[in-house]
Amino acid sequence: MVTANLEETTVESFSDQLHGDVLRPGDAGYDDARTVWNAMIDKEPALIARCTGSADVIAAANFARDLDLPLAVKGGGHNVAGDAVCDNGLVIDLSPMNAVRVDPEAQIARVQAGATMADLDHETQAFGLATTGGIVSPTGVAGLTLGGGLGRLDRKFGLAIDNLLSADVVTAEGDLVHASESENPDLFWGLRGGGGNFGVVTSFEFQLHEVGPDVLTGRVIHPVEAAPDVLRFYRDFMTDAPDAVQCYAAFTQVPPLPEFPEPLHGQTVLVLIPFYAGDIENGRAALQPLREVGDPIADTVQPQPYTVSQRSSDDIYQEGHRNYWKSHNLEGLSDEAIETMVEHATPIPSPFTTVFLEWMEGAISRIDPDATAFPHRDAALSFTVAPKWTDPERDDELIGWAQSFHEAMAPHATDSVYANYLSRDESERVRAAYGENYDRLVEVKNEWDPENVFRMNQNIEPTG
Ligand SMILES: Cc1cc2nc3c(=O)[nH]c(=O)nc-3n(C[C@H](O)[C@H](O)[C@H](O)COP(=O)(O)OP(=O)(O)OC[C@H]3O[C@@H](n4cnc5c(N)ncnc54)[C@H](O)[C@@H]3O)c2cc1C
Repeated sequence: MVTANLEETTVESFSDQLHGDVLRPGDAGYDDARTVWNAMIDKEPALIARCTGSADVIAAANFARDLDLPLAVKGGGHNVAGDAVCDNGLVIDLSPMNAVRVDPEAQIARVQAGATMADLDHETQAFGLATTGGIVSPTGVAGLTLGGGLGRLDRKFGLAIDNLLSADVVTAEGDLVHASESENPDLFWGLRGGGGNFGVVTSFEFQLHEVGPDVLTGRVIHPVEAAPDVLRFYRDFMTDAPDAVQCYAAFTQVPPLPEFPEPLHGQTVLVLIPFYAGDIENGRAALQPLREVGDPIADTVQPQPYTVSQRSSDDIYQEGHRNYWKSHNLEGLSDEAIETMVEHATPIPSPFTTVFLEWMEGAISRIDPDATAFPHRDAALSFTVAPKWTDPERDDELIGWAQSFHEAMAPHATDSVYANYLSRDESERVRAAYGENYDRLVEVKNEWDPENVFRMNQNIEPTG
């Protein structure tokens, strides 16, 4: 353990520089702070700095750099790859920094980097405002945004990064810089899709939009036997759908949760999750075809508070499970791709496991692929196999299932993948995740982090 090699006085003088706590193995709170969403990740940092502001982050970045300690940055800790923590190094834990300040007149939110989607939605919805963000509420705004940021509002308002106005960043040199279109524009470009490669973002400034407070959404559940017909309809419908319509589709084994009818528990089903970003009555008309296709066994689509819809999948994606994800971007959904999905998804091998399709296009695709570091502007969908389980004895079985499913889908996929969905054994796919923007990202990395201090991420290696 590195702690054994760190002089007590060194740790104490570091601790004295911080307002937040510095935790070591055995300290109260250490195990909580090193725990991330994916229970397959079990890393033991030497030190965890629970930062309360940019000053703490600067001190921590300087400390790790000067002592050449492995350095990880934890936002919401939701990354499936587990990059928010490291063994034998320092973790900058941003979770105490979760304030969100909304300017309702300007429709702008300033968001500290430890905020979760729950924090952001709670504060912005107090003013009937929102911006694009993740669909499971404990997910960190920081990691989600730095990778791109898909969400229910993305077809209407673009990705999270398309609504990012500026960010404050602690650099590898320990400086605090502001990045926007007009200040450090190369860094700002890289932050919008290039992950945590360039520094520690301490706060984000987002453009907000009028949303809700009620929105029309819910689940339309079909028996898996109906999946081919329903998915073909889904494809044709979404290809021409207005931007205000988002609809995810997911195969799942109905989990034993009260929100699902008990007779369905354990069954493999196809779920459509239509969502309308706008007036409820307009939404009823727009979503109706998605509710009329086939003969659904349940339909829970109804007006509900946007904040409730944003928490509606929290129980399915709860923490404490073992997780492994394999994802592809798709150009479209051919009949053959649908057949392959149905074949591999039947049956879904464990409760809470999902195989999900997120339709993209709309506002996302009207931005040039090189306007931000996020390159996947022409992908129609993101496809992800996401098994969940608790018994470590099932690791090989469920990881193998996800891998063979993913491989079977490869002929129907582009070569690209969303960086935020990469698992920890996929470093060879990092280039594909940054696509045609990779070379420019290397230039930005060379300028802002030539020593690769920030490497616990989907890493862009500097070339000197
Ligand atoms: C249940 C679940 C639901 C999800 N839903 C969505 C979704 O709807 N849309 C979507 O786009 N993605 C979604 N994701 C993927 C998600 O975007 C990524 O997992 C993202 O990394 C989570 O951010 P985080 O802050 O929680 O991650 P962390 O695990 O804390 O960090 C992830 C990476 O970002 C880096 N990082 C974090 N904060 C900072 C910072 N302030 N400065 C610099 N680097 C930082 C970390 O070092 C690490 O490399 C989901 C993931 C899960 C597990």
